[in-house]
Amino acid sequence: MSILNQRFNTVHDTAPFSQIKNEDYIPAFDVAIEKTKAEIEAITGNAEVANFENTIVAMTYAGMELDRISNIFFNLHAAETNDELDQIAQEVAPKLSKLANDITLNPQLFERVKAVFDQRDSLSLNKEQQTLLQKSYRDFVRNGALLNEDKKESLRQIDAELAVLKLKFGENVLAETNAYQLHITQERDLAGLPEGTIEAARGLAASQEKPGWIFTLDFPSYIPFVTYADNRELRREIAIAAGRKAFQDNSHNNEDNIRKIVQLRFQRAQLLGYETHAHFVLEERMAQQPSKVNAFLNDLLQKAKPAAEREFQELSAFARKRDGIDQLEKWDTAYYSEKLKQEKFSLDDELLKPYFQLDKVLDGVFTIAQKLYGLHFHEVQHIDTYHEEVRTFEVVDETNELIAIFYADFFPRKGKRNGAWMTSFKPQYRQDGKNERPHISIVCNFTRPTATKPSLLTFNEVTTLFHEFGHALHGMLANTTYPTLSGTSVYWDFVELPSQIMENWCYEKEALELFAKHYQSNETIPMELIEKIKESASFLEGMATLRQLSFGILDMGWHGQDPSDIQKVKAFENETFASTQLYPDVKENAVSPSFSHIFNGGYSSGYYSYKWAEVLDADAFDYFKQNGIFNRDIANKFKDNILSKGGTEHPMELYKRFRGQEPQVEPLLKRAGLI
Ligand SMILES: [Zn+2]
Repeated sequence: MSILNQRFNTVHDTAPFSQIKNEDYIPAFDVAIEKTKAEIEAITGNAEVANFENTIVAMTYAGMELDRISNIFFNLHAAETNDELDQIAQEVAPKLSKLANDITLNPQLFERVKAVFDQRDSLSLNKEQQTLLQKSYRDFVRNGALLNEDKKESLRQIDAELAVLKLKFGENVLAETNAYQLHITQERDLAGLPEGTIEAARGLAASQEKPGWIFTLDFPSYIPFVTYADNRELRREIAIAAGRKAFQDNSHNNEDNIRKIVQLRFQRAQLLGYETHAHFVLEERMAQQPSKVNAFLNDLLQKAKPAAEREFQELSAFARKRDGIDQLEKWDTAYYSEKLKQEKFSLDDELLKPYFQLDKVLDGVFTIAQKLYGLHFHEVQHIDTYHEEVRTFEVVDETNELIAIFYADFFPRKGKRNGAWMTSFKPQYRQDGKNERPHISIVCNFTRPTATKPSLLTFNEVTTLFHEFGHALHGMLANTTYPTLSGTSVYWDFVELPSQIMENWCYEKEALELFAKHYQSNETIPMELIEKIKESASFLEGMATLRQLSFGILDMGWHGQDPSDIQKVKAFENETFASTQLYPDVKENAVSPSFSHIFNGGYSSGYYSYKWAEVLDADAFDYFKQNGIFNRDIANKFKDNILSKGGTEHPMELYKRFRGQEPQVEPLLKRAGLI
């Protein structure tokens, strides 16, 4: 039998990476899938009457071996992959989704869950148990378990249609993105562009055996072009091409798809007993209700709009003075923002990097975790890893009790996905009286050391490290009973609070003095640089806020009401955007036809959560600031009510217990310089 199906005889029960061979995975998955099925069958076949222990708790611990193998495999698939692992992932994914479906659509299992749920008031369950019961029940109901056969069939049809439409939506956006090229043949049209961007454009043209330079609607090509190209007419051309994606009179037009998608989502919600799709989605969010989201967006809009209008005036005046621009248009924003920012701050990465040596920043974030939560990080060499660059730490509390294992994988390499993320190889949970401590990992793509220099981070990399470390704290300090409610298993408009709040320490003198020291002279970063970093972080934040809000409002417009009466996408957008627009309308453009986040991705009725999370972290950090950023009492409240609680209670309840009240928008507005 594969090592993956056995108890790991390793230090702290850590994953035995060096002993796993690629050919172990498929058989290990197969065995674990069969074990999970057997565990479920043991529940449905139990002759005893269903109760909380023999059904709900038993379900929660079913499939733990499979989860453990999945964690190891899919984490490696993201951080250290190769063709073989890609192949295995392709083979395993359908097996796993079939198993998940077989469980949620299992009528005998649902019958037992419902029997327990129906007696919930007489079971004297604690909060965590109540949450677990409700979650288990809802997972079935939200998949149609309460419907009769006819309605179940309609639900299946709607889901099948939606899957096709969403796919089509995405394909159209992709096709339209790929269909456009800006082909430049005159060198003067490249004026203003950075050398790297020009080189890439030349490479693209050469690969098509064309002269000159080619720019596309892919972000790495498009964003630098609209940010730096001096030629306004060309910026206009490419910006309009971007705004016209899937909104042209051709076979890739998404207008019909949008109307069908929102209509089907509405029908689906109604079938399941919800007023609208937004009601369905928000039931499992901190915000709870569309009315709450709408009030949130409108409140923020009223408060941010004066600042946004002021900034728009300032940017317009700057463009007029600099280049005689009469009317600022959408294709001018990135360009003049960048120029104005340079003029105001002249901050550049090279100036800051010497103060952010990776090892010092890491020590700094550990020291902050010690000051706040009493954690100590000891780097160790005796824990197995999947790559020689992965560093491992034993994390202990003030009584030297093991809290977690922490892995850190910092540098880019072939086989690692882009970006940065936190993940776990083992969650925290209690079983048989034992508190199993979690194995948490952060994976990043930071600047590598060179032969002459250590790894020096850009400021953006510093905040990224703090962000992922915040997620890691949420995982490491978890202290719940059930693994499915542990750590970061929370509603998704709440999950960014622990991560984003950590970023705030990067802007505080008291914190920076701990780690922002020149790598050669050890001199602490000058205060004026910190001030500049702070100011530039909120530069033109009012306009950016208005833009984010406009997308949130559009999302709620599509999903928070009966969409039957919406005839024309463009007309609907103009109406919806009325309160958020600073620029003249571009009649050949529309947002929705390429708004993949909400029509093809997972963000429908969820776009608001970007701003929601910012409000939460600003409000929570404000509480620290009022009492001192290293105040142990506030830190304890944050740990006891948020970091350790996972998804065991409704996030609003947890938040109120920490903060003493619901989150307020003012701290964010203040931080962003909008009031
Ligand atoms: Zn995050």
